Amino acid sequence: TVVTRFAPSPTGFLHIGGARTALFNWLFSRHHGGKALLRIEDTDHKRSTQEAIDAILDGLNWLGLDYDEEPVFQSSRADRHAEVANKLLENGHAYRCYATTEELEQMRAEQRAAKQPLRYDGRWRDRDPSEAPQDAPFTVRLKTPTEGETAIEDLVQGRVTVRNEEVDDYIILRADGTPTYMLAAVVDDHDMGCTHIIRGDDHLNNAFRQLPIYRAMDAIEGGWSDPTYAHIPLIHGSDGAKLSKRHGALGVEAYRDEMGILPEALFNYLLRLGWGHGDKEEITREEAIELFTLDGVGKSPSRFDLKKLENLNGHYIREADDTRLAELVADEIGNEADAALLAQAMPVLKTRAKNINDLVEGSAFLFAKRPLEMTEKAGKLLTDDARLLLGKLSSRLKSENNWTIEALEATTKALAEELELGLGKLAQPMRAALTGTTTSPGIFDVLVLLGRDESLARIDAQAA
Ligand code: GLU
Repeated sequence: TVVTRFAPSPTGFLHIGGARTALFNWLFSRHHGGKALLRIEDTDHKRSTQEAIDAILDGLNWLGLDYDEEPVFQSSRADRHAEVANKLLENGHAYRCYATTEELEQMRAEQRAAKQPLRYDGRWRDRDPSEAPQDAPFTVRLKTPTEGETAIEDLVQGRVTVRNEEVDDYIILRADGTPTYMLAAVVDDHDMGCTHIIRGDDHLNNAFRQLPIYRAMDAIEGGWSDPTYAHIPLIHGSDGAKLSKRHGALGVEAYRDEMGILPEALFNYLLRLGWGHGDKEEITREEAIELFTLDGVGKSPSRFDLKKLENLNGHYIREADDTRLAELVADEIGNEADAALLAQAMPVLKTRAKNINDLVEGSAFLFAKRPLEMTEKAGKLLTDDARLLLGKLSSRLKSENNWTIEALEATTKALAEELELGLGKLAQPMRAALTGTTTSPGIFDVLVLLGRDESLARIDAQAA
């Protein structure tokens, strides 16, 4: 069965690229009825934080990506990593390197001067252990093949070949006995039973460094067959450059908390970013699971487009359940929010909203306290003439028994006709008086949502 893993390093938030990698892994597993696993690569103690771990778990959970086992914390497996390093050592697939830091710096300086690639030159590879200095610190290096080439049939990149001489004997265990990422990732992937390694294509080179560990361990004890790789292109900004903060590349929680994006919108956007399925626009979670294959993942980097995400979000807001939206908006507003009233207002509020913030802004009039604060534009509408009109309107509305959109509209229109005014001449000061702004849902919706008493109080406060 298929087993995938998402393996973030908790040195920062779950960014948009990581979220997409997580999504593709998850979809691939679910599509094949396999297992989706999560591994926190927290071996860099200085840069890993609990805050980042929490943010990653929270972001994945919000996107609806669930995992079949508890997350594996890489740092807890250091002994196992050392055990594998020692097996490689005992069986002649790795060796101790006593080269000092100064010596290695010297080596690289010479390589640089000769315009050669910077690679460990294997100086301890074939030395007799008896030549080892007494009690000197050493690192453990993998004895990688020097001749021939290694080919990977990558599910996204296709066949990729690297000459083995390009892969140097890199360090698997540091002088202090701690494992390097390269070793730890392979040992964990093997022990977790990962069949498919789906990750960013910035790790493609690592595959050629990691495969020799599988092959050496397979030779030693069997059961370490090569995983299948799929290296997915990174996400770029709309200008084609590598995605960074200035392109709007935020942590997933910022899309939720700051930009008011719904998880299903981000899910869909990330899915379509680099994965095409004909011209189907919206895809449900179930459809995504059914349709997802790595064949649909393109080889070229996809471009992040905030506008598209926002449009998609607007679409999902219109589809979303009103009670749910009302709760999200109420959370933002805080104490004075009335979730039931918000839910009632949602059908008119959501028609143009692109994010939750728009809904919060659009609903502000519902909870505004008298005397209403006026925007400058709204204040200008309330001329002496306009206030007289509001006075006339107020007495008409007071005798209105039927506080419905239809009745209120008929009454207001009748008054406008009597006064030989366009409806707009009346509606504009009404909007200013009722909402303190010049933009709002339909004015009769506003009257109904505010209710008779509050509407009349707001109009009377401005009427002459
Ligand atoms: N921890 C690595 C990263 O966050 C991922 C390594 C991998 O997927 O093999 O880039």
